[in-house]
Amino acid sequence: MGLDTITLASGHQMPLVGFGMWKVPADKAADIVYNAIREGYRLFDGAYDYQNEKEAGEGIRRAIKDGLVKRDEIFVTTKLWNNYHQKDHALQMAKAQNEAWGLDYIDLYLIHFPVALKYIEPEKLKYPAWWMDVEHKVIETAPIPLQETWQALEEVVDMGIAKSIGISNAQAQTLYDIQRYARHPISSLQIEHHPYLVQPELVELAQEEKIAITAYSSFGPQSFLELPTAFRARAKDVSLLFDVDAVKKAAARVGRTPAQVLLRWATQRNIAVIPKSNNSTRLQQNLEVGSDSFTLTSEEIVSISALDKGLRFNDPGFYLDKPLRIFA
Ligand code: NAD
Repeated sequence: MGLDTITLASGHQMPLVGFGMWKVPADKAADIVYNAIREGYRLFDGAYDYQNEKEAGEGIRRAIKDGLVKRDEIFVTTKLWNNYHQKDHALQMAKAQNEAWGLDYIDLYLIHFPVALKYIEPEKLKYPAWWMDVEHKVIETAPIPLQETWQALEEVVDMGIAKSIGISNAQAQTLYDIQRYARHPISSLQIEHHPYLVQPELVELAQEEKIAITAYSSFGPQSFLELPTAFRARAKDVSLLFDVDAVKKAAARVGRTPAQVLLRWATQRNIAVIPKSNNSTRLQQNLEVGSDSFTLTSEEIVSISALDKGLRFNDPGFYLDKPLRIFA
């Protein structure tokens, strides 16, 4: 099995397929990560917000100790949460997160969302508090411009804590803005990307600018059906992407699963994917979507892209009581 990579603007290589750590329970994370490495995964996509970095790091360290991989064959992505955008907080968090993983350095450090929230002591910010204060009620923004946060991430690179930096959930205007002052390039943009939310112009812009795209929630509604009501609301009334004709037809032709078609729809356009699964058959299948797996015809890519509804599931402008309309 070949492991395709994408060259980042920093010059480092990022695997085209990885494993997403959102909703992986902390008490199972070390074993799940260890097992994923045994199956062939090399990229792990974490975040402070997921509250399982330490355990994921333990799984990777165990795999290194057992001789399954070397550190430089593993690629760790993690993210700065919204409450820590102020420069000193961002530096502290990068150091603390790096220590939690315990792997000397982070491969890719991303700003999780381009919105600054009021500081909350890290020990008090317990998943799934996400956007809210410690009582899970108030959402308060903080007067911190993104430039300050980006420049803090650049220091994180200068200090050797991260090899590459980037941003998640940003739109074109934010990318253009960062480019005006960036000393270190935007290596990657991580976005929600599936056939119900294609964002073709954003993808085109990023690729023109050599910003590697990572798609999250590649299976669309599936991931959001597992969440509390407000987060589930947009997902529950649409067909699962596994069941739509364009995907099923392509899957039947290539003799693969609809899930694999959804992932290949992205990887074939040089977009990285980071699906999450706890099931070992799916874990293996999700990895088999690289260039040596199968090829969709351009008609199939077009017919799957035509499912686009501009339907965003991870939208704090929709699921928060006090909306943060960052995608407006
Ligand atoms: P996903 O699209 O990977 O879907 C996960 C769901 O699909 C789970 O219910 C899983 O059981 C199911 N599934 C997995 N493989 C399957 C298969 N082969 N067949 C059928 N069902 C299958 O969803 P996600 O977790 O939302 O996204 C993946 C990763 O992206 C996350 O773990 C996280 O690392 C990242 N992410 C980032 C952000 C961000 O703001 N940057 C937001 C969401 C997710």
